[in-house]
Amino acid sequence: MTDHYGRVIRYLRISLTDRCNLRCRYCMPAEGVPLRRHEEILRYEEIVEIAKAALSLDIDTFKLTGGEPLVRRDVPALVAALKNLPGTRQVTLTTNGLLLGGQLEALLAAGLDAVNVSLDTLDDGQYHALTRRDYPVAAVVAAVRQAAGRLPVKVNAVLLPETADQWLALANLAADPGVDVRFIEEMPIGKGEADPNLTADRVLAVLRGRWPDLAPCGEHRGNGPAHYYKAAGLAGRIGFIDAVTHRFCASCDRLRLTCTGTLRPCLCYDDGIDLRGILRSGAGPEALQKAIRQAIAEKPEAHCFGARHGSQQTMNTIGG
Ligand code: SAM
Ligand code: SF4
Repeated sequence: MTDHYGRVIRYLRISLTDRCNLRCRYCMPAEGVPLRRHEEILRYEEIVEIAKAALSLDIDTFKLTGGEPLVRRDVPALVAALKNLPGTRQVTLTTNGLLLGGQLEALLAAGLDAVNVSLDTLDDGQYHALTRRDYPVAAVVAAVRQAAGRLPVKVNAVLLPETADQWLALANLAADPGVDVRFIEEMPIGKGEADPNLTADRVLAVLRGRWPDLAPCGEHRGNGPAHYYKAAGLAGRIGFIDAVTHRFCASCDRLRLTCTGTLRPCLCYDDGIDLRGILRSGAGPEALQKAIRQAIAEKPEAHCFGARHGSQQTMNTIGG
């Protein structure tokens, strides 16, 4: 379906939980999130009903996110259910990678199409300070290597002042075939704060010290708004998502569903439509479809990061 600004909306990010086994400082409060009652969270059958309504409007690409989606039980069952819906183009997952290794085979068997693994540093000390937990980085890197070659893998690294010495090491993960590495500007959402000094140009200057031929390749890879570079010495690509300095809103093709069933037209604004209420009122699929149309109609032209009065919710709630 096309919105008021001519954007074709075809992508739904689905948050499975706002809980997480990490406490990334830009995303989660140190104390975690208040416990929600079980019945507040959408059940898998409800997510599938929403996906069916979305598919009827040509929204055919689903990304499972969170919080950490893999802390929720039996994610492969949901992947399989979504993949089996007529018309589904892709089901992908965004994870911090800690539980990925143990669930990879089941996710592949369920038909998962691609995975994004969030990893901002390869240094254990930095990782522990940033995530406020003491898991080893090696566990995440092992999961990335295990997944590479089985399905497309993107490593997503948020650009942070304290991890600037990691850009080369992170980019080098793209030496593995099947792994792209993307650097993402921190967004001023929840606990996040954009740092105007951490730009794609600065990262590129450092990376070109090692890969002088690193150049834009104009490829569109996956479903995200990244722009990509390639170098002869890297099998994968290096991408940049500069949401703050270069707005990507003109090509934004997505809606977001929170784990409690609110459909949000834009990452930046807290407004949304209560799909859970509609589902549980017993209204039929037409009511869901109408609500999704309304969310698309209400999708703002652009985000509000510059104004700094956008979402007060943290990213674990919105789903990134
Ligand atoms: N737990 C999973 C993970 O970390 O991939 C999925 C949810 S997480 C909210 C999704 C993505 O949002 C992660 O890549 C994370 O780095 C990113 N993120 C969270 N807060 C952010 C912020 N303030 N600015 C930019 N990216 C952010
Ligand atoms: Fe958890 Fe992902 Fe947020 Fe980190 S970015 S706290 S891993 S939800």
